[in-house]
Amino acid sequence: MPSTTLSAVWYGTGDLRLEDRPLAPMGPTEVLVEVANCGVCATDLHMLDGTIRLYPPPRLLGHEIGGTVRAVGGDVTHVQPGDAVAVDTGLACNTCFHCREGRPFMCPNRKSAGGGFSEYNVVPASVVYRLPTGVSPRIGALAEPLSCALHAVERGQLRPADSVAVVGAGALGLLVSILARLCGATRTLVSDPDPRRRELALQFGASRVLDPLHDNLLEAAREMTDGRGVDCAFEAAGLQATFEQALELPRAGGTLVQVSVPSPEIRVPLKTYDLFSRELTIRGSYIRTTEFQRAVDLLATLDLSSLIGERFALKNIGAAIEAARRRDSIRVLVGPG
Ligand SMILES: [Zn+2]
Ligand SMILES: [Zn+2]
Repeated sequence: MPSTTLSAVWYGTGDLRLEDRPLAPMGPTEVLVEVANCGVCATDLHMLDGTIRLYPPPRLLGHEIGGTVRAVGGDVTHVQPGDAVAVDTGLACNTCFHCREGRPFMCPNRKSAGGGFSEYNVVPASVVYRLPTGVSPRIGALAEPLSCALHAVERGQLRPADSVAVVGAGALGLLVSILARLCGATRTLVSDPDPRRRELALQFGASRVLDPLHDNLLEAAREMTDGRGVDCAFEAAGLQATFEQALELPRAGGTLVQVSVPSPEIRVPLKTYDLFSRELTIRGSYIRTTEFQRAVDLLATLDLSSLIGERFALKNIGAAIEAARRRDSIRVLVGPG
């Protein structure tokens, strides 16, 4: 059992420090996980930039964790040393109103169990999920964003034969477009200014891809749906312009789901008459509720390897952050060695 771990600790805007930290002794219901890979998410970049303040510093960053179990406490039965696992770092109190209403991510007492930009984590067994046979900890790092995408398609209440538009083809947008097809959507339109991301969307089965800087999204959505507009649109880029684009796309009676993390400063002009006369449903999709296990299970049946790009050693975390900012790939990974 190691007594310390190298971890990247966030101390505030632009201040990420590599530190050797003491590792808490493992209790009977805890698990020691050696991180293999952790995805660098836009949320990590926003927290570093100070544009989104989800939590106060100091804090371990990295919440998309694939790893290997190294030791388990005496009361832990669902995983054993050597198991490949994914870790859901969100730890809710289980006693507040929101927890008891089945929405642990609204819990005001929610804490983070460990952090992925770290060699080791001692975490409660309840946040450790064994990966299906054949799924590596590398792919396991995608369980977390996949769980958020699952939550989003559930918020969209998709039905077989639905038409769907996804504005933004980053990790969430691409995963939502894949899951929309799995839910039975037969027409999916994906918009992103980056040609490489549009190509990925096509490989993942999008019916049509568009460049929002040159193409008219509303026209394309209408073309695809006999002039009606789509059943459900997903905003997956987090910008004011993309929200305004996505808002136009649902048909009368349709739904818009806000799934990406927008800057808290963004305001949009909303025609309330539109809301009234189109009977629009606008829904937020905040992280997840209980989708993590199904995301883990889904990893066994999806080939998501093309979402993963360069991998950096933890000691080069700065370079990993820069690579994520350049958006060279959908997911940059960080791992201990
Ligand atoms: Zn994330
Ligand atoms: Zn709670």
